[in-house]
Amino acid sequence: MNPFDDIPKINHWLDLENREKFSACIDLKQIKEPQPLKKVIAAYELSPKVYCGIASCHTAHHKGFLVELFDGSETIVGHCCGKKYFGRDFTVEKNRLTKLATDKQNYEIITRFIKNLSVHKNEFNNVFNENELNCGFKKLMLAVIDFNTVRTNISSQTFSNIGYDGEVFQLVRKSDKDIEIERVAGQGQLIETHQKHIIAKINHFNLLFQIDKFYQLKDYFSNLFIFFERHGRGFTSNQLKQYGKLVKDFDNKLYEMKILAKQGSNLLSKTNLEKLNLAIGPHRVSELRLVNAFINRQAYCYLNRQALNFMNSHKILTW
Ligand SMILES: [Zn+2]
Repeated sequence: MNPFDDIPKINHWLDLENREKFSACIDLKQIKEPQPLKKVIAAYELSPKVYCGIASCHTAHHKGFLVELFDGSETIVGHCCGKKYFGRDFTVEKNRLTKLATDKQNYEIITRFIKNLSVHKNEFNNVFNENELNCGFKKLMLAVIDFNTVRTNISSQTFSNIGYDGEVFQLVRKSDKDIEIERVAGQGQLIETHQKHIIAKINHFNLLFQIDKFYQLKDYFSNLFIFFERHGRGFTSNQLKQYGKLVKDFDNKLYEMKILAKQGSNLLSKTNLEKLNLAIGPHRVSELRLVNAFINRQAYCYLNRQALNFMNSHKILTW
């Protein structure tokens, strides 16, 4: 059952006029009651304009509120008349209704999502797991975890000649003639004697440094699916707000994951990763060994210890 069924939908003038206790014009002077407002029933936005139900006002408006008065009769008021004639009662009631309408909207979004939960899980699994188009988010994330452990075992200098964008460069000494020309033009300023010479580009290299982004995305989907798998139909107002927002983000997050998985396939190809060797240089034997072990693990889908631990401790990977 939808707990928000009691907010009537008002899309046309007839939706108002057909209500049994509705009156299009009320003379408040006849009412002696000190607190004439009982509740705000619904908000509406109508076209063409309708007339305010307070006889002394009768101003035409698009947006207004259906209200119930103390004696059970109903009419419509604009925002200004509501405040003017019903005071604080109106503001409190209006806020209650706004919150209820937001809860209702979130409830509908969430129940629709739950109804299609298996479809959404498939959508997720198609991007998360390896498929014919790309390596899948899972494999990429494990590679990034693996790379982060490799990185802690090698000196920070090792990658000093790779740019964040993956350009691998060597510093080449400029010719004496070029240095002399620059020195003259620079009028005594210090000049660089070496220049960067780009020898390779590792595609999507920067993904390897974005571990936080991967965890955030993974956490987003874990939160969402675990909650809806365990949860029944009743929600607190806070849950409606929190999970309504998560559900609204689903398509964007899925798209983000899809793009990463696609870039990941490009990054993790053996020929692309082997360019790391160019950056390290042949004399750093132990570091080359570590990096090559990493490249081979990616090529043959082995997990290092950290990635294995991750697999075992995160339920999301069993979906
Ligand atoms: Zn009015």
